[in-house]
Formats: sequence, structure tokens, C-alpha cells
Amino acid sequence: MNFSERELELGRGIIATCRELERRGLNQGTSGNVSARLGTGASDAFLITPTAMPYDVMQPEDMSHMGLDGGSAGLHQPSSEWRFHLDIYRARPEVGAVVHTHSGFSTTLACLGRGIPAFHYMIALFGGADIRCCEYATYGTQELSDLVLKALDGRGAALMGNHGLIVLGPTLKRALALTVEAETLAMMYWRAMQLGDPRLLPEAEIARVREKFATYGYGRPAA
Ligand SMILES: [Zn+2]
Repeated sequence: MNFSERELELGRGIIATCRELERRGLNQGTSGNVSARLGTGASDAFLITPTAMPYDVMQPEDMSHMGLDGGSAGLHQPSSEWRFHLDIYRARPEVGAVVHTHSGFSTTLACLGRGIPAFHYMIALFGGADIRCCEYATYGTQELSDLVLKALDGRGAALMGNHGLIVLGPTLKRALALTVEAETLAMMYWRAMQLGDPRLLPEAEIARVREKFATYGYGRPAA
């Protein structure tokens, strides 16, 4: 297929996001994947990283093009984890980009089946008083996608049981920034647990912080 200027631009943005994830040590090999919506509205399509291709050789034309009907086009097969990307764009019209990583601290918690509670006020960036962790299901399956969508209900991020992290954003830039925030929270939670039981903030305080984020500071909440 011939890529439009818009598609090439979005492809470059996806590659830049992948390389930044790698530079920050948030990706292990080719395990992560990134996608971005081409336009707005439920009838639209998105671009997603191709399966098993290292980021340093990836070109914008290598992106897989997927319609919200699930049909794909392009030089390569889409990432083997395309299913939850598709289901997120179908269910969440506000989402413009999806970042999935097997980053160290988030994945450590996910392997314990442990979500991140309101131990720090920055959890409010993700839409509520926690980042949930879903049950394990085999990668690439509809079962996993269903579990992920449920864990993401009202949230901008979720941990995937025995697997990794998924973060949503209105744009690639925002999704990347929120991925860094989520991994940082996972790291701080893990560290705090080495010394004891972290103190948790009440839900009303998280609601108050979300209100503040919405008007100034860190920008609009992720969900
Ligand atoms: Zn994965």
C-alpha cells in the first residue's frame, strides 16, 4: 500500500516513541508495541508496529495499517498483540495512542498479580485511585484483550498479569510520558514495599488531585 503523508508522519512518531522507550530502558528486545490512531472517530484506522522487527531498522513504511473492522494492510504482519490495540480504539474514542511494554518494575508487580494502589498522589494521572492488574491470559488472544479492557475501565493504564504494562494517551507524546510515570510509580511502590506497608491515600484525596490536574499542573487526566 502507498502511505499518505499523514500516515508517514504518524509512522515516524511511532518509531520515535519506540526508540525513546528503548533509550529509557522501558523495552526488552522486540517485546513492546506501540500504535496510534490515524484520525478521530470510531470508524477510523490506526497504525501499529509490525511483529518481530527491531526498532533501530524500522521505517515508517514498515508500520501495519489496521481498520477498526480488524482488517490489516502493509508490508508486514501487525504486532502479535494487535488485538487489544484494536479493541481499545473501538471502545475508547478518546484514545489516540497505545503503548505496551514489558518494563521491569511494572512487570515485576504484574508477575505478583499486584496492581498499584493510591500510595502516591501521582496515581491520579491514570484516572482513579489505582492502576489495576488483570489476570493472566495467553498473549495475542481475545481472552487477554477482554481482561485488559476490563482492567482499563475508567483508567489510562493497567498491569497485565504475568506479562507487562499498557498505557493509553490522547497522543503518542502523552502516552509515552504516562508510560514513564507509570513505570516510576511501579518502581517507587516496589521500593516502598521493601520497607513495609506503604500508607494509602483516601479516594477523596485522589479525586481532589485529579481535579487539580484537570485545571493546571500535569494537564488533563489520562482517562
Ligand atoms: Zn507483551
